[in-house]
Amino acid sequence: MKFGGTSVEDAAAITRAAKIVESRLAEKPIVVVSAMAKVTDQLVACAGAAGAGDRDQALCIARKLRERHYTAASELLGTGVFTQFHSELEAEFDALDELLRGVAAVGELTPRTTDNILSFGERISSQLCTAAFSARGMNATLVDARQCIITDDRHTRATPLFPVINDALADIMQPLLERGRVPVMGGFIGATKDGTPTTIGRGGSDFSAAIVGAGIAATRIEIWTDVDGMKTTDPNLCPDAKRIKVISFEEAAELAYFGAKVLHPATLLPAIQKNIPVQVLNSRNPQNEGTRIVARAPACKSAFKAIAAKKRITIVDVVATRMLGAHGFLKAIFDIFDKHRCAVDVVSTSEVSVSLTVDSNEAIPAIAADLGKLADVKYEGRKAIVCLVGENLRGTSGIAAKVFSTIADVNVRMISQGASEINITFVIEEDDVPRVVQRLHQAFFSELDPAVFD
Ligand code: ADP
Ligand code: ASP
Ligand code: MG
Repeated sequence: MKFGGTSVEDAAAITRAAKIVESRLAEKPIVVVSAMAKVTDQLVACAGAAGAGDRDQALCIARKLRERHYTAASELLGTGVFTQFHSELEAEFDALDELLRGVAAVGELTPRTTDNILSFGERISSQLCTAAFSARGMNATLVDARQCIITDDRHTRATPLFPVINDALADIMQPLLERGRVPVMGGFIGATKDGTPTTIGRGGSDFSAAIVGAGIAATRIEIWTDVDGMKTTDPNLCPDAKRIKVISFEEAAELAYFGAKVLHPATLLPAIQKNIPVQVLNSRNPQNEGTRIVARAPACKSAFKAIAAKKRITIVDVVATRMLGAHGFLKAIFDIFDKHRCAVDVVSTSEVSVSLTVDSNEAIPAIAADLGKLADVKYEGRKAIVCLVGENLRGTSGIAAKVFSTIADVNVRMISQGASEINITFVIEEDDVPRVVQRLHQAFFSELDPAVFD
């Protein structure tokens, strides 16, 4: 059971989460929690201020974080427990201050130190939830994510080392479950084999929960958040977005990858490997059935399940006339992206040119310099990928025509269909996202199959 930031944002939210966990005790849950809402953003700001040498600003943000956690703890715990827990929290926040002072003194922030600073959010929220659950009489036990989620040392976007993790989970989680304990662990963070804290990418607590769920062969992975499940699109863009009752792994994975923030893009990989159903549920409305993500979704009469959009994309155009008829052009290009460890999302090719999209803007100048040795290169930021997903696309003709005629006045920069057979993906200007998504939502999601949506 994973609870996101808003689901543990204050004492009231943590109490709601505790009640939800209590309702599942017979099923032996493991709980994974995010940092309280916005805490990771504030830690990023702290780290940035310290790195820029602004010690006072860094400590000022840290003090507000400290107070917010003290307030929640005092509301959740009785006086006696609070006094003891307060000194534990104090030690954590003192350590954070110490770290920030050190960073500010040298005026330099490394990815390794960033991860150390960010790790405080989940470390502290997991301690607080454990204390709060115990105070209600649950047999909660804190599990340090740094002992379970072992990763490589690629700080801020570390890769989990599954075999090592699975051994650690068997050693740590299984005995706790056998003793009737409820393990509580922070998401998002891990550590290298030598114990240095790492993080697995923003929004990564969903992924942590899936790693744990797959590692211990759970019967179900529950993602508790602040909406009634996965919706037909981002409800911030279309307030009338409908809940998807059930969706396939493949469809949900495409949506998560192409921008549906409700799930971290990597979440479904461990679940798919072990065929463990994932359920997205609302901690403010736990009666709602949310969305079930399963290997095979039932037949659905609607053309699409959902639309997602991913902003902050850069298009890279590579043109090499002298490559006409030569082989190895694509390999040479992809080798360069590989060398810079940069993932490519959408690709369109012609004989002498390739357009591709990437979302890591920092690496692009260096990549363009390398590509420039082979071909003419242009790149342009502020683009967005829009992706319509649905298994009914397989074998249905005429849908693409309907999609593009709905947005005939929009400048579409790239189109890709066919790779997975279940999506139509295209690239537009970032500023066009709201009107494109709203218009497509209106056109394709007004009349939906009631068996699958509500
Ligand atoms: P948590 O802190 O619980 O991980 P997130 O903020 O990461 O929550 O994800 C939940 C949010 O994702 C929702 O509040 C909603 O604004 C956004 N969202 C974007 N696309 C979708 C979608 N297709 N379905 C549901 N929510 C979506
Ligand atoms: N707290 C982390 C973040 O804000 C991880 C998460 O919430 O999933 O990115
Ligand atoms: Mg999230």
